[in-house]
Amino acid sequence: MAAEALELTECTRSLIKYPERVLTVNIPFRMDNGDIHRFEGYRVQHNTSRGPAKGGIRYHPDVTLDEVKALAMWMTWKCAVVNIPFGGGKGGVIVDPKKLTNPELERMTRRYTAGIAPLLGPHRDIPAPDVYTNSQTMGWIMDTYSMMSAAGYPTPSVVTGKPISIGGSLGRNEATGRGAYHTLQSACAHLHIPMKGSKSVVQGFGNAGSVVAKLLDGEQSLVIAVNDSRGGVFNAAGLDIPKLMLYKERTGSVVGFPNAEAISNENLLALECDILIPAALENAITGENAHRVSAKIIAEAANGPLTPDADAILEGNGVFIIPDILCNAGGVTVSYFEWCQNEQHYYWDLHEVEARLENVMNKAFQEVLNLHSDRKVGMRLAANMLGINRVAEATMARGLYP
Ligand code: NAD
Repeated sequence: MAAEALELTECTRSLIKYPERVLTVNIPFRMDNGDIHRFEGYRVQHNTSRGPAKGGIRYHPDVTLDEVKALAMWMTWKCAVVNIPFGGGKGGVIVDPKKLTNPELERMTRRYTAGIAPLLGPHRDIPAPDVYTNSQTMGWIMDTYSMMSAAGYPTPSVVTGKPISIGGSLGRNEATGRGAYHTLQSACAHLHIPMKGSKSVVQGFGNAGSVVAKLLDGEQSLVIAVNDSRGGVFNAAGLDIPKLMLYKERTGSVVGFPNAEAISNENLLALECDILIPAALENAITGENAHRVSAKIIAEAANGPLTPDADAILEGNGVFIIPDILCNAGGVTVSYFEWCQNEQHYYWDLHEVEARLENVMNKAFQEVLNLHSDRKVGMRLAANMLGINRVAEATMARGLYP
């Protein structure tokens, strides 16, 4: 749809539609008991016209090559929407990491890294954490790459989301939630909804969701309900978010938090509120439950939380949707800052990271909003148009080799 709205030629479309590189690797490694196991892994670079490929690596039993290709394309548009000089990539291994010990996970990660190493490099392809990978995984990847390509001398800028001790950036952990919060500030200002006193609901009180909730709470928005995979809690007068964060840290869930009632996921989505933040999984809101949503703004902190049916219903009902490739781009933006700091060998304080993030998110929001108003299209289509157009322009500017 975005390509049509932009009136891109068939030639341009075919240049940006398909991944540039797809690598499948065999990953044999030794288990603790001496047996050899093997898994299959992938790395896909969708488009590198605007810069090196950037995108996470996920470990999950349901990973497929098609999914990795789609996620890589998603990263291309996301990086372009916030105008950071990266293209899109993604990696995945078909594995249930919960069934491996930590040493097994390390050996598997190192062998996978060795397999995809020909594609990696600070100016070629820069992985990051995704589902069931974390800063430790990035530390192993950085070390393996450094051993293989630089005789062990450190190459921190080959991955982001690293531990701070080896070149990670301050503010990376909070970046996705903080970026989503800035898009909400802009949306509230645009719709003349005062944040102070507004009612908000967060589905998925994890890394991204809890940070948005904390920042909204700080602006005196009443966060009336949140949930996680085990259940939800509700208080019409607003939950005490700092206490809830400590409670979840201690117990592992929000369930049973004092001074709150239990609430089901279905009822949480249907609560009367101004702001709804899906921050859990894909396809959380569907054609079945979308008509029950009464929020005025939906901020997609999660990737793909609305099915196409739900999207059509909610847009038809006049809900203002902040699409995922804009709303949750704070994570990849601070990943970019991490890479910049590594490349400069000069590290920023937290204030600088946060100020620059706010600047990038506000600018991107305004650019998407301008397209939304000028072209009279939904925010999702506007974001796609902005991202795709930037990639198409870069692709055409580089021309066709040979
Ligand atoms: P996370 O694992 O920290 O949090 C996810 C939360 O959702 C957990 O609290 C989990 O219990 C909860 N949850 C799972 N199933 C649920 C259900 N059925 N109902 C309600 N809650 C449920 O993950 P995260 O890093 O916060 O990521 C959340 C979403 O944000 C994902 O879609 C992810 O792709 C997206 N995202 C995250 C980042 C990042 O940097 N963390 C960047 C971009 C996008």
